[in-house]
Amino acid sequence: MGVCGSCWGSGRIQCSSCSGRGYISRLTFDGEMDTSPCAVCGGRREVRCSFCGGSGQVQTPSTEQRSRPRRRSSDPLEGRWSMAGGWYEFYREGDEYRVVAGGPTGFTDEGSATRDGNLVRLHIRSTFLGNYTLELQLSGNTLQGTINVMGMPVPAVFQRE
Ligand SMILES: [Zn+2]
Ligand SMILES: [Zn+2]
Repeated sequence: MGVCGSCWGSGRIQCSSCSGRGYISRLTFDGEMDTSPCAVCGGRREVRCSFCGGSGQVQTPSTEQRSRPRRRSSDPLEGRWSMAGGWYEFYREGDEYRVVAGGPTGFTDEGSATRDGNLVRLHIRSTFLGNYTLELQLSGNTLQGTINVMGMPVPAVFQRE
């Protein structure tokens, strides 16, 4: 079991129906704004993470996810790394990497990463989680580290695709 990469173990994700606003605004026939609470999240702005069912924990990636064909770069980090519910994609840019982070709910965040030997440091600008920094150890086809979720260290293991 590992942390759910979709909700980062919180078990809750931003409501996609109202984009996390908690209400829906629409224009009526007479040109007025009609604002009503979002029926999907009930105005709470979050919904239960459907990927992990709200537990925040998921099984390790399925063989189907692992076997997706992808061109392998000669760079030890470049390419896509995934765990159940989430992934990071690294693109080499000079001495650094550009990083795109994503999950099954369709959110994508961007950031940068540096690699110092086997230590990979990520700086992600996340619209949902806020800006965060993550340190991961690179060893072969595995990237692992500890993610802090609400003050609780949770182990995270990413596999190279
Ligand atoms: Zn989840
Ligand atoms: Zn909503």
